[in-house]
Amino acid sequence: MQQQTVGKPIRIEGNGLHTGKQASLTIHPAEPNSGIVFLRVDVNPPIFLKASVENVHSAQRCVTLGKDGITISTVEHLLAGLWGMGIDNALIEMEGEEIPALDGSSAPLVALLKDGGIIRQGERRKVASLKEGVWVRKGEAHIVAVPSPRLRITYFVDYNHSYASEQIASFVITEDVFEREIAPARTFGFDYEVETLLRNGYALGGSLENALLITKDGPATPLRFENELVRHKILDLIGDLSLLGFYPKCHILAIKASHTLHLELVRQLSSKMNIRRWII
Ligand SMILES: [Zn+2]
Repeated sequence: MQQQTVGKPIRIEGNGLHTGKQASLTIHPAEPNSGIVFLRVDVNPPIFLKASVENVHSAQRCVTLGKDGITISTVEHLLAGLWGMGIDNALIEMEGEEIPALDGSSAPLVALLKDGGIIRQGERRKVASLKEGVWVRKGEAHIVAVPSPRLRITYFVDYNHSYASEQIASFVITEDVFEREIAPARTFGFDYEVETLLRNGYALGGSLENALLITKDGPATPLRFENELVRHKILDLIGDLSLLGFYPKCHILAIKASHTLHLELVRQLSSKMNIRRWII
């Protein structure tokens, strides 16, 4: 499989989910082997920030990248959309602190990527295989990665809620599967946690247009999938895996995990996987 980039610049504007602040970004084509790189053009001097696990500033509720006191938050749905559609290289000029929420999923980005075209480049994609199992855990949350010829993600959640009990999903991750089965799944929250979130400065830009709200009476807006919550967790994990900088060939099984544990897995995979260029 060759590396890929966007066919033409893609512009996105909107408010962030957590800060509620307006931001805009333009995704430009980039050279092979450059990876996904943000450029905050609204600070002086402009700051380059590579989408890499070394640049993770925090992972509380969302993933924030940061360097030299400059941050970009809630990168996961954008990174999932790019990686899920096979974009290896892009330069993202960003004005603002938080990625626009759009509809809370990666579907609008996927549509824009398909409209603009995806270009194959002259270098092979960086792929890595796993020799032995990796297990990270915290309390009730676990993630296990085992060797596999292809990337498969299996996820289990249970929020002990009448409308959000056990949900399980398992997919071999391809661009088609990502577009159809994962990208449309929206970020979600529960009505009982909204007040606490707002008090702590989260979800300030949240609305029924950019998040799925689960109330005691059920979802506030129609579900896109019966198990939309667990599919969104897979979307989040894909965004976090993109910070590896290579495509991991393994089966990942996650139970009740969060960004913090996803990133712990990414760090472990980063040190244990053998990167090589290979046709997949
Ligand atoms: Zn998310």
